[in-house]
Amino acid sequence: PKWVYAFAAGYVDGRANMAELLGGKGANLAEMASLGLPVPPGFTITTKVCDAYYAAGRKLPEGLKPQAEKAVQLIGDEVGATFGDVDRPLLLSVRSGARASMPGMMDTILNLGLNDETVEGLANRSGDRRFAYDSYRRFIQMYADVVLGVDHGVFEDLLEDFKNLNALSSDTDLTADNWAEIIESYKQAVVDTLGRPFPQDTSEQLYGAIAAVFGSWQNARAQTYRRLHDIPDSWGTAVTVQAMVFGNLGERSATGVAFTRNPSTGANEIYGEFLVNAQGEDVVAGIRTPQSLTERARIEAGEEAPSLETLMPALYAHLVQVFQRLETHYRDMQDVEFTIENDKLWLLQTRSGKRTAEAALRIAVDFADEGIISQSEAVMRVNPSALDQLLHPTLDPEAAKDLLATGLPASPGAASGEIVFTADDAESERAQGREVILVRLETSPEDIHGMHAAVGILTARGGMTSHAAVVARGMGRPCVSGAGALRIDTKAGTLKVGKRVLHKGDVITIDGGTGQVLFGRAKMREPELSGAFATLMTWADGERRMAVRANADTPRDARQAREFGAEGIGLARTEHMFFDTERILAMRQMILADDAEGRREALDKILPMQRGDFEALFEIMVGLPVTVRLLDPPLHEFLPNNSDEWPAIAADLGVAVERLRQRMTQLAEFNPMLGFRGCRLAILYPEVPEMQARAAFEAAIAVEKRLGKSVALEIMVPLVAFRAEFTAVRDMIVRTAAAVEKETGGKLDYTIGTMVELPRAALRAGEIAEGEEGAEFFSFGTNDLTQTALGLSRDDAAPILEAYTQKHIFAVDPFVTIDIGGVGELVRYGVERGREAKPGLKVGICGEHGGDPKSIDFFEKTGLDYVSCSPYRVPIARLAAAQAAI
Ligand code: ADP
Ligand code: MG
Ligand code: MG
Repeated sequence: PKWVYAFAAGYVDGRANMAELLGGKGANLAEMASLGLPVPPGFTITTKVCDAYYAAGRKLPEGLKPQAEKAVQLIGDEVGATFGDVDRPLLLSVRSGARASMPGMMDTILNLGLNDETVEGLANRSGDRRFAYDSYRRFIQMYADVVLGVDHGVFEDLLEDFKNLNALSSDTDLTADNWAEIIESYKQAVVDTLGRPFPQDTSEQLYGAIAAVFGSWQNARAQTYRRLHDIPDSWGTAVTVQAMVFGNLGERSATGVAFTRNPSTGANEIYGEFLVNAQGEDVVAGIRTPQSLTERARIEAGEEAPSLETLMPALYAHLVQVFQRLETHYRDMQDVEFTIENDKLWLLQTRSGKRTAEAALRIAVDFADEGIISQSEAVMRVNPSALDQLLHPTLDPEAAKDLLATGLPASPGAASGEIVFTADDAESERAQGREVILVRLETSPEDIHGMHAAVGILTARGGMTSHAAVVARGMGRPCVSGAGALRIDTKAGTLKVGKRVLHKGDVITIDGGTGQVLFGRAKMREPELSGAFATLMTWADGERRMAVRANADTPRDARQAREFGAEGIGLARTEHMFFDTERILAMRQMILADDAEGRREALDKILPMQRGDFEALFEIMVGLPVTVRLLDPPLHEFLPNNSDEWPAIAADLGVAVERLRQRMTQLAEFNPMLGFRGCRLAILYPEVPEMQARAAFEAAIAVEKRLGKSVALEIMVPLVAFRAEFTAVRDMIVRTAAAVEKETGGKLDYTIGTMVELPRAALRAGEIAEGEEGAEFFSFGTNDLTQTALGLSRDDAAPILEAYTQKHIFAVDPFVTIDIGGVGELVRYGVERGREAKPGLKVGICGEHGGDPKSIDFFEKTGLDYVSCSPYRVPIARLAAAQAAI
């Protein structure tokens, strides 16, 4: 088999698209060589050899040597040297290179081919003994460490001792004779450690190094890196053997690394560092302070050492030209390693550069503007999930940090505020103009008002899909959940972490992007929705088919949603409007009433408030569709759990405590998720949907009067399983609409549809949609549909999900990315049956999955008309929907 692929100026075997076989580094070196760029000649030993090496119990395959020897000769011919030759020694680097870049995880050996004799040849030919000995001592140290397993600390200590003894501070102060002396001590150290001398046979050196690089594929570092980055063990690494070029050949030599654009802002400016008279890792090793490539960066950083731009202007110009060539060829920003040997530029590596979300946006848009890529490619270039980083304030990475604890990064963004332990405190402190962080063991629907009032939420319990996490993401509040190290004592008003005790009013900072909880107020950076963001979003909108709406219940959320480009509201959860202190009282009166009459009386108080809520929402969303969902949660969520509160509440309501207790017992459920909620509530308490529909209809007419047009109102019936349920609730709504039209003389524009969130509804979708009086739209409530299809309660799922993902039973959290095979199948089936019964039936989705890029891709393929997600995810959904459509 062909084990070896050569690259030299006139002769190249490989290509960039051969990374699987040659590794990223080898493939790109071949590509650069074929472009005629200055690359030291070399060859790459394929990943297949890595397989063979391990299959044979860590032995190189038979056929490799002849092929490698020929390739080494080819290199020698090109550079006019011979491997192992005393007069004109060829020196090589032996480099690792996996398919996916694993920077610094595996080993590389430089200056290979030096021994006691060839080092003299190198000294003579270069006319620089110091350089030759410097290279040799580097080689001994690297080879002994990587191949022979001698700890590199041994050599560092020897060098350090030598410098101390001779009062030398920097490596550059050492003379040729100094290095010669150090080489002797290094060689002695090898003998002392291994009981045998450092190998002088250059061929033994070469195959030893090749085997060691293959061996490094299985070192602990590399294994961990692969696990964290989902890189399969089976890929293996390639090994690239390449002629050395020398950045340590004096003052006209250097080594450096560069990004072709600024990787943190995306600005079209070269960004990088170099060191004069240095080699390889010196730049990143921190032994000396590297210098800036550009004069602009040098001035900005206030550095004294000259930039490459002024130090070697011609070379810098060449570098700029090469970078442009690489960018237009690879059509992406590049991360480049280079070396300068006596005023000649050599390229040693190129790959796509890692970048922040901000940079990704700017670079994509600039590349399209520069004509290098098309607009739709630019849209494909940005990872939608990464936009999250941009839409929230974030911690200043340079700020000092006093870390208290780490939890889950449940909802992105950072926030600082005073600690409060109850939702009511959050609200009252907020009312006094304070910024607070709500700290709870976990949150429940009762805490919603406090979560709204807080600038951030911190919980000790609960996972990424806990109540706190989901609601916080919906509200765009930063949230850290499940910070298990926290000991919260609500009664005492303390928060303990280890030995530290914090009290109500103490300031903390949470970073929902990393899960960190910090003591005190940390420095923040505000989000900047730059020009590139807006441009890319416009391009994305041009590509997408599905509409993007927002789940929003408050004017604040609705406004935010519009700002982020939402095209309507896909889910207004009316219950969120009931938790306000004044309304919850009326709500409780309604719940405690003995009959329909009493309930109506209480609901009459709520009607004007709810109408006001709707008017505010409709004004913001005027001209767009708004889906209003009827009351969904079980009634006991509106009653206080804590019996300490009962006397005060009973007094407010003007009933005996006993009556409250009695009603609570009546309403208590073992499994509220499957209990008295959704349309079941509406059917048993028709007064409630009537009031809600009336409030919505009256609001629509009022807004129409005021603004000349209103929203396209969609009334949505939750938790329907049977057509008869839908029909019962629909009748109430239609009657209410007719009454409102008659009273006001207005004309209503509305449709009635259902939320599909029970498997039975998906299965009977045809029946539910059929006919004029069937559902006029479907909105898949994939949160409940996931719970009911999987029989898995979201609020209790955290420990199960953790174990299941660990044991690979779940590849991903099904509450984050839709379970395509099961829940997705129900969606697909429901869409199909629904549209069979009612051609053109409007179908959307309003669960958490509406903001998840992978799920959005599925919804596009399933032919949904729109997705609806929390306001802060709207830009993510717009981009993901565009990518799904391209
Ligand atoms: P990594 O994958 O860890 O970046 P590399 O194989 O890129 O390892 O090697 C690290 C550094 O060694 C390179 O950035 C370069 O500075 C130096 N190097 C590698 N090969 C050569 C060579 N042929 N000539 C000069 N320097 C080299
Ligand atoms: Mg490298
Ligand atoms: Mg639901």
